[in-house]
Amino acid sequence: MIPFCDPVRCQAAGCVATVCTGRGVPSNNELFERSCRAIPGGVNSSIRAFKAVGGSPYVVARAQGPYVFDVEGKRYVDLVQSYGAVILGHAHPAITAAITAAAADGTSFGAPTPREMKLAEAIGERVASCERVRLMNSGTEATSTAIRLARGVTGRDRIVTFSGNFHGATDALLVAGGSGVATLGLPGTAGIPNATVANTIVAPYNVVPQLDDQVAAVIVEPVAANMGVVAAVPGFLAGLRAECDRVGALLIFDEVITGFRVGSGGAQGLLGVRPDITCFGKVIGGGLPIGAVGGRADIMECLTPIGKVFHAGTLAGNPIATAAGLAVLNELDDDVYTELASRAGRLSALLTEACSAAGLPAQFPVVGTLVGMYFGAGPLPTNFDAAKTTSEASYAALFQAALAEGIAFAPGAYEALFVGLGHDADVMDQIAVAAHAAASNAVRALG
Ligand SMILES: *Cc1c(COP(=O)(O)O)cnc(C)c1O
Repeated sequence: MIPFCDPVRCQAAGCVATVCTGRGVPSNNELFERSCRAIPGGVNSSIRAFKAVGGSPYVVARAQGPYVFDVEGKRYVDLVQSYGAVILGHAHPAITAAITAAAADGTSFGAPTPREMKLAEAIGERVASCERVRLMNSGTEATSTAIRLARGVTGRDRIVTFSGNFHGATDALLVAGGSGVATLGLPGTAGIPNATVANTIVAPYNVVPQLDDQVAAVIVEPVAANMGVVAAVPGFLAGLRAECDRVGALLIFDEVITGFRVGSGGAQGLLGVRPDITCFGKVIGGGLPIGAVGGRADIMECLTPIGKVFHAGTLAGNPIATAAGLAVLNELDDDVYTELASRAGRLSALLTEACSAAGLPAQFPVVGTLVGMYFGAGPLPTNFDAAKTTSEASYAALFQAALAEGIAFAPGAYEALFVGLGHDADVMDQIAVAAHAAASNAVRALG
């Protein structure tokens, strides 16, 4: 405990911490401690907690381009980028201007607006399978709506999902799978009745499961980006397409991460497989809350008010989020993706080089513009069982050492690293220098 405090300045700055730095500004720890008294675990999304890596989070005051600045004024090169929601870099002038202009005209009306139509068109123009698009507020809302839609359209109940894929906080998809073979799912968290997941089947990623005519839909991350980054093996997605067609099931691509991240046509454009329904989120909101479901016209028009599958949302198609979304899509052309792919390659190479120089077994696979991490020497994982053999201790050590060097990774061993337009050659050089120091400090910390 530091012996003095300037209560007037500290409290004016919002600090009520029991431990005070006495500097007149609250520290990360003070603010986080206060957060924990108001918010369970101090975070509004559980993955932001530092439970897996130890310590407590830096509290972000502001961000610019490739950097985030914490409340103590410390700068980090940010490779989290809002878990991929930010692609142009933080506070990009085009997005900031679009949001500001939109806000001046009102923030939500409860009636159709021109911008939501334009964003739906912009998505449809870039992703051919999306003949109709319904906008909503999160990726979670998109996956739960897609599941409801698929069940409503087919009149079937069963959903097939893949172990290690993540589809947000959607009850029917929060399942714990068995190992190796397709199994009926068990609830993946407390609070979900067995009955809610009784029709969810969990299959191993990268193996085409045999379906039957009870299956409404198969939902898949076309590049798995929530168990590290795991590419679909050749033939997997095409095999799913064929197997769905064989039994009359719908194929849903969860492109909440990959949509407008790996290319303007999403993973489906890159890999050449056309799903019936696609879920979007993250990039299409330019950092504001958004989600979308797109797909074949005949399927999408089964949503209310035309069809019988209910969907509604007070803030769906929100004027500010659609303004930001249009601004971001407007900036993303093929040159941007070529540039992002080359930066992803550079990030992977410099991290590989730093870890190898330090003697830390680590691999950084690149798929499109996504970079993953696997702390092990063996072959790269192709499914969740293999992905789980990553050394979480190595990850935590590198995470902490990198943070100390001013580089922010996400606080979990299975998240992707995100590069954006903010990470130019200079920033990459900074990361390279920091990564060398971080990798050797991590090895020392691991003993
Ligand atoms: C982030 C994510 C979601 C959930 O999106 P939210 O906007 O966080 O609800 C769903 N699917 C995938 C693949 C994701 O990465």
